[in-house]
Amino acid sequence: MIYLDHLASTPLDPLVLEAMLPWMRQEAAGNPHAAHAAGWRAADAIEQARAEVAALVGAQPGEVAFTSGATEANTLALLGGVPPGGGCVVSAVEHASVLGCLPELRRRGHPVVMLPVDGAGRVDPAGLERALAELPGAALVSVMAANNEVGTVQPLAELSAVAARHGAPMHSDAVQALSTRMLDMAALGLHGLSLSGHKLYGPMGIGALIVRRPFRPVPASAGGGQQRGMRGGTLPTPLCVGLGAACRLARERREEDARRIAELRDRLWRQLRERLPGIRRNGAAEGGEGLAGCLNVTIPGIDAADRLLDLPDLAVATGSACHSGAGEPSHVLLALGLSAADAHASLRFGLGRGTTVAEVDAAAERLVGLLTD
Ligand code: PMP
Repeated sequence: MIYLDHLASTPLDPLVLEAMLPWMRQEAAGNPHAAHAAGWRAADAIEQARAEVAALVGAQPGEVAFTSGATEANTLALLGGVPPGGGCVVSAVEHASVLGCLPELRRRGHPVVMLPVDGAGRVDPAGLERALAELPGAALVSVMAANNEVGTVQPLAELSAVAARHGAPMHSDAVQALSTRMLDMAALGLHGLSLSGHKLYGPMGIGALIVRRPFRPVPASAGGGQQRGMRGGTLPTPLCVGLGAACRLARERREEDARRIAELRDRLWRQLRERLPGIRRNGAAEGGEGLAGCLNVTIPGIDAADRLLDLPDLAVATGSACHSGAGEPSHVLLALGLSAADAHASLRFGLGRGTTVAEVDAAAERLVGLLTD
């Protein structure tokens, strides 16, 4: 298997697994909220993990709420974080976990504005300025750090400066950016940030919403009041420890990973461009700001989902990316101005920490072989 789908999910780093294993064994059993030695040990491990998660984005441990993943974190930020009577501004290229909250916000009477993007997938800060000027009262602004389909990196610092001028808190879905990019919430002017374990070489089923004052979303599950009431429910010690280890590794490795992975991405693009006439690259232009591991291309005339069935051992995503199987053209590619036909003729390669030169060359070889047969 050549695994080039790291933007959908990253494999668990062996060091993360090692950190988790002791907490999955019987001798470590103990509810981290219980008042006895087993509980205290688990609680200590979770607090260390919380500090690692906070350190990755320059936040304080008390600002981290563990969730089941980024979908829950985004839902908490949006459904719990829009001020009463206020509006909500998001970009047209947000993940489905953000866009999926909008009907409920509208039902509750909040005005919702969706900002368009340019041909590279970038949100224009002047567009945010206009949107906020027209909205009554304070609004929550939510714009992702980097897009999961085309890799475009958004100008977060500029956008949050605009939001701040209008007294609006700024949230960002940073799921895709954190494995290869430095993100400091204070420097970027962010009040909320969502992340996910399985996009960071950590475990599936865990993520976090990080909240900084004055942003304080209303919790969806109060439960037993855990995590200072932000999100009730018994914390899963092994998953929290795994996320903490993954965040520590990301901090240590992101720079080196980004350099190496971007080189591999450029190598893959060179090979495809030379051998597949008419191929186009979507999102951040060559040499521009884009996610190190993301290469999204259109090969006009092909039905990507259909052709990939002939290469089951090559894991890449098609133009409907995260909703593969749904058959709908990607809303992200449409927002960039692609036709539905071109969206269906698009492929997304997601390179990661374990990707090798040999894999990249073999992937190009197989794809070119299939398409030029
Ligand atoms: N946001 C983005 C940008 C993503 O790529 C994903 C995962 N596809 C999510 C949110 C959802 O994350 P999770 O799987 O942790 O719910």
